[in-house]
Parts: sequence; structure tokens; C-alpha cells
Amino acid sequence: MRIRVAHLYPEYLNIYADRGNIAVLARRAALRGHELEVEAIGVGTPLEPGEHDLVYVGGGQDREQALIAPDLAARADALTEAVAGGAALLAVCGGYQLLGRGYRGRDGSLLPGAGLFPHETVAGERRMIGDVLLECELVPGERRTLAGFENHAGRTRLDPGAEPLGRVLAGFGNDGESGLEGCRVGRALGTYLHGPLLPRNPWLADLLLAWALAHASGGDPPDLDPLDDSLETAAHGVAAARARARGGRR
Ligand code: GLN
Repeated sequence: MRIRVAHLYPEYLNIYADRGNIAVLARRAALRGHELEVEAIGVGTPLEPGEHDLVYVGGGQDREQALIAPDLAARADALTEAVAGGAALLAVCGGYQLLGRGYRGRDGSLLPGAGLFPHETVAGERRMIGDVLLECELVPGERRTLAGFENHAGRTRLDPGAEPLGRVLAGFGNDGESGLEGCRVGRALGTYLHGPLLPRNPWLADLLLAWALAHASGGDPPDLDPLDDSLETAAHGVAAARARARGGRR
């Protein structure tokens, strides 16, 4: 099948080579006989809900965020409709922040968000930097760990009752206090984890692919053929050990 991906603002939001996540999705799709068709969505490029099976937004610093925030906020309805229609979405760090209601920077300026995720972000004084390990249960009964790297000044507070992406085993997470990391709305996931995220967490890449394939076919998420993930598993192990060495919640 063809999986249609909307990659939002690739020229602005690509800190820590976040576009590596797209490379992982493309390769893992191809190994199962599927093709990833990636469309770059820049400022002003139309985005029709339903036309993409997966939306991807990377991370960026405050300066880059300010350049795209009004355009992203104007896409609030299109993004909400896309996710309500079953499209998958992955947003990292700066993109994750701007998919909430807004981001208040160190200088006090407020960047409006698209309001897809039920959260708000305010920049704090101390940056939260280092390896992170989470425990997630995105499919009931299937507990998995997610390893990555965080570097953010923003503290993200989820609304009461909002679903996080996972619980922090080591690292700061959303705000360094709640023990929660990221946010989930349907098949939309937001996280602070860079790395890039997917090369060392292949289970998450496959979950996103299965969700995107379900959207493309109008059916249920398929079981994807297993791949030889020995390198990915080793990378996950190294990152997880580094996070654990860093210690528990900070
Ligand atoms: N500007 C944001 C922060 O520092 C996002 C940074 C990022 O994407 N790494 O909180």
C-alpha cells in the first residue's frame, strides 16, 4: 500500500536530525512491501484532512517555532479533523509544544498552538537535558519501554485526565515533576524524545505504521511481519542503560 505522510515544516523543525524518524518509517514500510509518500508541508501549503495517513512534526528552538507557530495554529481544525478521522501523528519537542494550546517562552512571548493536545507549555529557567526512559502501554496489555534524549526549557502541563504517552522511569519528561511524558489523543502522539526517536524504538515505528495503514485501508491496524531488529534492540539497550545510570525522576 501507499502510506501518505505530511511532514510539517521540515526546513524549520529538524533539530537533532528529527527527520531520521521519517527514514525509519520509510525503510520499515518498504521491507513490508509498502511505500511511504512524503509531502513537505511548509508555511501556506494546503493540508486537507483525510489526505494523509500520518502527520509528522519535528522539534525546533524558540526562534524556529516562532516562524511557523501562526501557520500551525491556523491548521487547528484540519489537524483535529485528521486525527479524529483516524490518521496517525507524531510530534517531537517543539512540534509537540505547539500542538498544545500554546508555548510561553523565556522572554514572556506567547506562541499560539493548534490545540490538538490538551496541554500548555511555559519555559522555565533550567533546561531539562539528558537521556530518558519511559514505560508506555499504548496497546492495552502491551507494556513497552521507550528510550530517547530530551533537551527543553518548556514545562508542559497536561490537563486533568489527559493521557500521557508514558510514565517516566528516568529523566525529566513533560515538566520534571508529574512523572508523565508526552501526550496521546487517539493515534496522535507527542513527545519530548529526540534521538531521533524511532531508530532505537522500532516497536513505536511499527505501531505508527500499522495505524497509518489502518487509515489508508479503512480497516484495522495490520500485524506487520517481524524484522531483524538486533541492531535497534542493542541501540535501545545502550540508551536505556544511559538513562537508568542518570537516575530516577528528576
Ligand atoms: N523551544 C523549546 C524548548 O526549549 C523546544 C526545544 C526543542 O525542540 N528541542 O522548550
